[in-house]
Amino acid sequence: MILDLFKLDGKVAVVTGANTGLGQGMAVALAEAGAKVVGVGRRSCAETKEKIEAFGGSFTEVLADLSTTAAVDTVLSGALDAYGRVDILVNNAGIIKRCDAVDVTEADWDTVIDINEKVVFFLSQAFAKQYIKQQDGGKIINVASMLSYQGGIRVPSYTASKSAIMGLTKALANEWAKYNINVNAIAPGYMATNNTAQLRSDDDRSDEILSRIPAGRWGTPEDMQGAVVWLASKASDYVNGYTVAVDGGWLAR
Ligand code: NAD
Repeated sequence: MILDLFKLDGKVAVVTGANTGLGQGMAVALAEAGAKVVGVGRRSCAETKEKIEAFGGSFTEVLADLSTTAAVDTVLSGALDAYGRVDILVNNAGIIKRCDAVDVTEADWDTVIDINEKVVFFLSQAFAKQYIKQQDGGKIINVASMLSYQGGIRVPSYTASKSAIMGLTKALANEWAKYNINVNAIAPGYMATNNTAQLRSDDDRSDEILSRIPAGRWGTPEDMQGAVVWLASKASDYVNGYTVAVDGGWLAR
């Protein structure tokens, strides 16, 4: 039956940046769909664990700073130690630095690119190797952005990294589809999380953005839940290399 294809029972899902925001929302959804969830955070994912355990779901936390590739082994071995296999990777952790392009420093540029792009690639590579070893396919879900499609204002390093994510999603799908690995992305629109706190506190920018969203509201972590479960499940087995916008219609305008 069709709804059974969305079930994730027996699957192990790793979500980076699962302590808050969109990562927390997606971790909870994957657990509700039946997956055992490994939440990766720089700091404690206690709140996410509480939410998941409240409905009898399974959650393990792995502490790791995803600003360098040194974290890659920690994440994969932490997940394997906890549950013995991995099936789903959600590359959600990311940062944004707002600054006029003429003032961006090399250090700030590298920080954003390393977390949002470089570590995403090497974590995906490590998971793909493990999926190939397990011989049972696997899912990788990247988190892109409206700035995978558009230029944005005062966020050049973020735009560069999120545009790269959309390209990487296609490149990796091409290479790994033959192993039954699906690499897709979700491009959130303007969502009410820490990432947009600065924008939302600026009345002019906030009004400007809201008036351009056909849905007439900021998105929420819950808005990500249907898309992530779909892309993590058998229901999307023939979807590969695609970026799904969850944006209240922003791109359609
Ligand atoms: P957020 O700032 O609340 O969450 C970011 C997450 O990344 C946090 O869990 C944080 O701990 C984690 N993280 C950052 N640096 C890390 C590091 N060095 N090591 C480990 N974890 C680290 O914001 P969010 O909106 O929930 O962002 C989640 C993702 O969604 C990000 O990739 C962001 O770029 C993307 N996104 C957000 C929006 C939006 O409007 N909120 C829009 C498009 C894309």
